[in-house]
Parts: sequence; structure tokens; C-alpha cells
Amino acid sequence: MTVGDAAIRGAAFLRAAGLASPVLDASLLLADILNTDKVGLILAGPEPLVEDAYRRFEQSLERRRAGECAAYILGRKEFRGLDFTVTTDVLVPRPDTETLAEVALSRIDERTRTRAGVSSPAPLALLDLGTGSGALAVTLKHERSALRVCASDISGKALEVARKNALKILQPTTGGELPISFIESDLFDRIGASPGPVRFDFIISNPPYVPTAVLVDLAPEVRREPPLALDGGKDGLDLIRRIIAEAPPFLCPGGTLLMEADPDQIRTIAGILESRGYSDIQMYRDLAGQMRVIGGSYSA
Ligand code: GLN
Repeated sequence: MTVGDAAIRGAAFLRAAGLASPVLDASLLLADILNTDKVGLILAGPEPLVEDAYRRFEQSLERRRAGECAAYILGRKEFRGLDFTVTTDVLVPRPDTETLAEVALSRIDERTRTRAGVSSPAPLALLDLGTGSGALAVTLKHERSALRVCASDISGKALEVARKNALKILQPTTGGELPISFIESDLFDRIGASPGPVRFDFIISNPPYVPTAVLVDLAPEVRREPPLALDGGKDGLDLIRRIIAEAPPFLCPGGTLLMEADPDQIRTIAGILESRGYSDIQMYRDLAGQMRVIGGSYSA
């Protein structure tokens, strides 16, 4: 059997199992076994596939059929072009969340421009609350190396994954010390004890925002993700409400809070931000055109 034949068979197997993206998933799984990427897989199409590799491919396909997502099977997921390690202790980074990364970058750049006249301004500080795999914190540090980044999570196991990603993705460019300070904290509870800054120009978060009752109806792939990263309580807004209420003392004057949420929640969140005294409330759409990110600034 050739590599190409195996890819076709794999896709057919996943399609028959009713999965949504059988071709993509089969190619990702096979490319991983052959230690290559999607282009390499196409180039290797006519080559024979050794039996051991086919057997391992079948095992991956079976796991995928049984409801594990490709990212957990591979142990990694791409986010904004970077290769993140993922385990079942963290939410798999979603393309939706790239919107939050983009919005944060553009707001950071805006802030940097407005400070252009200030002589030697302190580096901007950013806190990623509930960092999970570290996708946001590591991406932002990777793309804006002058930022001081602090990342927190309530889960020590998630922080281990985030640390690993910071080492893997940032260390080769920065060398020496880990360029992000990590802290285990239930939202802001221990941020004051952080070795990094305690007031931030930006606080960003992709908190759990799925209503508890909706969790059970999610796709089998999502039900294997940590509920801690998804369950937002009765209306999904428990954590978002807490973040909005607790953030002000941790924001620099005029600092900005940016959060991801469900498109259906965005207007309610705008109301909460307003009632809590935030200004400059802005909403942003994701690639699918849905409202996905909301932010506001706070001046005491
Ligand atoms: N967007 C995710 C989902 O619907 C939810 C992520 C979250 O709660 N932060 O699966």
C-alpha cells in the first residue's frame, strides 16, 4: 500500500464514522506518524507505507473514531503558526481564540504608539488569566518580545503544559530565563504574590464560558476537554462576572481588559462592563463574522 492509498482509506474510515473533517484529520494523523507535514505527505503519496506505520495509523484512526480529537492524539495543536503541546489537562487552542490574540496585538500596538513621545517608557505588562496551554501568553510574547507577560491558571497541571510551551517556543529565541512569569491562581487570588508585575496595561482571558447545562450536549471531542476550562456556571458568565469585578485593582490607570466569550453573551457582557464603570467598550468579530471578543478600559 502507498502512503496516498493509506490517506484515502483513513479518510474513508473517518467519513463512514460520521466525522466532520475526515480528510484533514486522516492527513494530520498520517503526517504525524511519518514525521512530516501536509505538504510532505502529498509528496510521499506514491511511496510504499511500511506495515508498522500503517498499524500505528490504524490505531490513531480508531482513537479519532472513538471521539478523541486529533490534537489530543497528536499531543499538539497549531495556534497562529506556532506548535503548541497539548494534553487533556488543557483546552485545545481554537481558531476563535486567534481573534483575541489579534485584538490584543492591535491594542498593544495602539498603546505603544500613543506612548511614542515618552522617553524610555516602562515595558507594557500583560496578564493572561487562565492561560491553559499558554497559547495566548506565549503567542503574544513571541510576537511582541518587549512585553512583560504573566500567565496564571487555577490548574497546576495546565501550568506545566504552558511552561513547556514557553520553553519550547520562546526559549530558543530568548535564551536564559523563562520569559513569562507563571503563577497558579484562582483568577486574581494570588496575582499579588506573583514574581512579575501586579498592575497590568492589559488583562486578557479566554475563561470558561459554556453554560453548565450546555456542556453535556457538546461534541464528544469537547466533552474530553477539562470541564474546568469550559464550565462557566448557569449562564456561562460566572467567571466573566468575577473577572470584570476583580480586575480594576490589577489594571494600570486606563488599562484594558479583553475577553473571549460566546457571541450570544457579548451584549450582556457589555452591559456588565458598563455597570462596573469600564469605558471604551468595544466588541470584535471572529473569522466567522461572529462577535467573539469584548473589551473595556478602566480608569479609577
Ligand atoms: N469556544 C469553546 C467551545 O465552544 C469554549 C471555550 C471556553 O469556554 N473558553 O468549545
